[in-house]
Amino acid sequence: MDNSQEIDKLFTNDFPEKPLSLCFLGDEVLRKKCDPVADFSDKFNKFMNNMHKAMKKFGGIGLAAPQIGVSLRAIVVEINKRVILLANPEIINCSDGIICEEEGCLSIPGQVFSVERTGFIEIKARTVTGGRIHFEADGLFARALQHEIDHLDGVLICDKEW
Ligand SMILES: [Zn+2]
Repeated sequence: MDNSQEIDKLFTNDFPEKPLSLCFLGDEVLRKKCDPVADFSDKFNKFMNNMHKAMKKFGGIGLAAPQIGVSLRAIVVEINKRVILLANPEIINCSDGIICEEEGCLSIPGQVFSVERTGFIEIKARTVTGGRIHFEADGLFARALQHEIDHLDGVLICDKEW
């Protein structure tokens, strides 16, 4: 599978002079199941760095590719200056404990929803260069990762309100 068409969409924008634009609730791309990333070329690497810049610009702690109109399984999360860029993330294990907290989403501005998440997750994913990684997360980091991974399956927090 080739991602280049999806990624090319982004380079019609000359970031950061012309910032990537966000997609909002109601945009079809937010409801699609995203395609796996298969091409880990420099182009993908650059795409991920641009996605991170966009996330910072829009003031989020996480961003998923469909939120900028690209239907690929790619996310970025940044918490306490710890940045993680992931392709094809999968939750392979989680705790039984459910925690309900309010969440916001850049694609649903000005609203918060109470969302139940598990407090601990184990993830496997690919790095921007295609390397395999496997790690554990808890607290806000685990919550943000679950939020972004939901985006890759077309799931938004307004669907999950407790
Ligand atoms: Zn979101």
